[in-house]
Amino acid sequence: MICCSCLFVSQSCLFPLFAGLRRSPGGEWFVAAVEMSTSRFGANVNKGTSGFTTAGADKMRKLKELLHKRDNRICADCSAPDPKWASANIGVFICLKCSGVHRSLGTHISKVLSVTLDEWTDDEISSMLEVGGNSYANAIYEAFLPGGYHKPHPDSSQEERADFIRSKYELQEFLKPSLRIVSINSRKDVGNASSSYSFKSEAGMVEFIGILKVKVIRGTKLAVRDMLSSDPYVVLTLGQQKAKTRVIKSNLNPFWNEVLTLSVPQRYGPLKLQVYDHDVLSRDDIMGEAEVDLQPMITAATAFGDPELLSDMQIGRWLKSRDNALTKDSAVNVGGGKVKQEVSLRLQNVESGEVELELEWIALNQ
Ligand SMILES: [Zn+2]
Repeated sequence: MICCSCLFVSQSCLFPLFAGLRRSPGGEWFVAAVEMSTSRFGANVNKGTSGFTTAGADKMRKLKELLHKRDNRICADCSAPDPKWASANIGVFICLKCSGVHRSLGTHISKVLSVTLDEWTDDEISSMLEVGGNSYANAIYEAFLPGGYHKPHPDSSQEERADFIRSKYELQEFLKPSLRIVSINSRKDVGNASSSYSFKSEAGMVEFIGILKVKVIRGTKLAVRDMLSSDPYVVLTLGQQKAKTRVIKSNLNPFWNEVLTLSVPQRYGPLKLQVYDHDVLSRDDIMGEAEVDLQPMITAATAFGDPELLSDMQIGRWLKSRDNALTKDSAVNVGGGKVKQEVSLRLQNVESGEVELELEWIALNQ
């Protein structure tokens, strides 16, 4: 059985038991069954993440070496130069625009990570290395591309790009027929067994208008939830997407300095932030929450257009009020061709605590 579309060994796949395609030392592809933990949420506090070990640093170096190989210097889907994103479970390097479409398919099909900004688990790096890069992946996913078929190019419309990427990875229309049959059966099984799958398929239809990078900088005067201190981490929620920082042990004034990336759908609501105390033996305790109104930044950025054409200036402002969690007014600035906003929040429904964020907005239609 092959799980969803991650034909390759996909440790980040959501489903507990699956098979993936592996490349043998001789170069042929074969199907291998792999069992894995279902726990993705919370992976940062488990042994799965070892971004700071020597072995982890070595693997990250190998990933960057792979990125710099010639066939990985162009996006696997639209051939745009210099891709900096990757689908960790599929094993391809992709450009920013294609990464937005990959995200819209859902993580059960494509788990998008930034090669430069995100923290990778050992398993995610291993599966990228195992696939071997864009030409190996495309040899499988585009093996039966119809003659005369035009792949999207770097300037293709969002629709054209989305059609191709969905056909290639979700519907697997260009795969070897023998692999495709196995895959379709498997998808039916998954659909019957899991009610969440159909929901995710619907979510895949959502069109995203941009990417929000949230640098979770620090917390101050956080609430005590253990004997004397807390082990805080931050969870961000935007619609159905969640992202979390690592846990910092015994610290009420932690510095996370961690960038979390979320896709922003056309109809977006507020970004929700929650701080939790990590507990090994019991449920994690909440240490306050706050909401960020994304509208001032996105509206201003849309009105001003491509930030790379603007000089450094303030383009908008989210004002502190009784109805929001801001500790002070928050300006939306263009600086160095990027749209950024510093946000300082007082946590709600808790005795004390503040959190500082830096938001960056990247529109997908530029
Ligand atoms: Zn691309």
